Amino acid sequence: MQLTFASDRCDQLDDPWWDRAVPVRFHDDARSLEAILSSLESPPDGVLAVGDRPVVLAAAVAAAYGLPGNGLAASAASCNKLATRALLEAGGLPTPPFRILEVEGSADSDAAAAAAAIAYPAVVKPLALSGSRGVMRVNDPRQCVDAIARLRRLLRSPDIAAHRDPGQARILIEEFIPGREFAVEGLLSGGVFRVLAIFDKPDPLDGPFFEETIYVTPSRQTPGVTQQIEAVVARAVEALGLRHGPVHAECRVNERGVYVLEVAARPIGGLCSRALRFTAPGGGERSLEELLLRHALGEDVGLYAREQAASGVMMIPIPRRGILRGVAGVDAAKAVAHVTDVRMTAKIDSLLVPLPEGRSYLGFIFASAGDAETVDRALRSAHMSLEFQVEREIPVL
Ligand code: ADP
Repeated sequence: MQLTFASDRCDQLDDPWWDRAVPVRFHDDARSLEAILSSLESPPDGVLAVGDRPVVLAAAVAAAYGLPGNGLAASAASCNKLATRALLEAGGLPTPPFRILEVEGSADSDAAAAAAAIAYPAVVKPLALSGSRGVMRVNDPRQCVDAIARLRRLLRSPDIAAHRDPGQARILIEEFIPGREFAVEGLLSGGVFRVLAIFDKPDPLDGPFFEETIYVTPSRQTPGVTQQIEAVVARAVEALGLRHGPVHAECRVNERGVYVLEVAARPIGGLCSRALRFTAPGGGERSLEELLLRHALGEDVGLYAREQAASGVMMIPIPRRGILRGVAGVDAAKAVAHVTDVRMTAKIDSLLVPLPEGRSYLGFIFASAGDAETVDRALRSAHMSLEFQVEREIPVL
């Protein structure tokens, strides 16, 4: 079996990462599809999107070869928070009231009017970024107007402008949904949705920014709550019109019900998938990636089940803006009972930018144990063993 990658990069570079990927541009689906079609020697047996930006392109490849996949409209909607909101609302799912604002061509008075028209607390966010980038809680109209200005600056920055995603032209302002947050990893097979794992996010995510830290599965909620989450996420998947492949959803739960924040047609991001291991029907351990590739090839993976052990990951937050000069205590963190791995992914001497402008983590801590409580404690204890040397950056004028 041959695996071919397609990745967003310049087509003039000669295989810069030695992966023989087909160079595509995620903002140009038509040309990217053309590049993929002309580079494949034989029709593929399956296609899989990893990350938000290639979701629509993967759907187009699937359609071109008559492979099972998601429709183009559903794929595009899953990558846009406004389209997602509209479809969830139309599907009768609980949705916070929201307002929309143009990034360009709207006056300060438009921002003030939008800020005056929403109830507080509220959340100001971009339509097409991920990892909580640009997402800000605001508690009154004044904070809202400031956050709109801050998000405008971010959306005009060169790295985001380079996405050329029309979604970056607008800002969403919606009411804050109080409650506990969960991530759901699932798989769609011809329209039938199956939950692979529900992760608790045990740290409160109340803002002003929404840095993710700990994910632990299985959930410590009662079966009543987890069943409700499964049922509402399944309805959200249907409302979006997704039909085939991986699903990563985020939701908030409070006494009024389950609010789905996003349904992405891709697997969990970063290195977090390593927190998931599956037992194959005949025994043996499989990664999420293997399960998804087998599924993409048409194999029935219905009998693969997540392992018995509780498992979790901590996305190591950026402590403050500055240059990362060193990380100490990695061995001590790895030695904490139940910790299975510590991976530092931030590069030494690189500039660390925290949320809401930044977009990545320092690294990942993984733990596995008999119960979720122990996993949670192990992750926190390992994190406390780590020390980060972050220097102030020298201002460049
Ligand atoms: P992204 O796709 O960048 O992760 P989300 O819309 O999922 O963006 O928001 C990121 C995080 O911000 C969520 O996981 C949640 O913690 C918080 N958040 C977003 N919208 C709301 C909201 N309306 N109410 C409360 N929290 C929110």
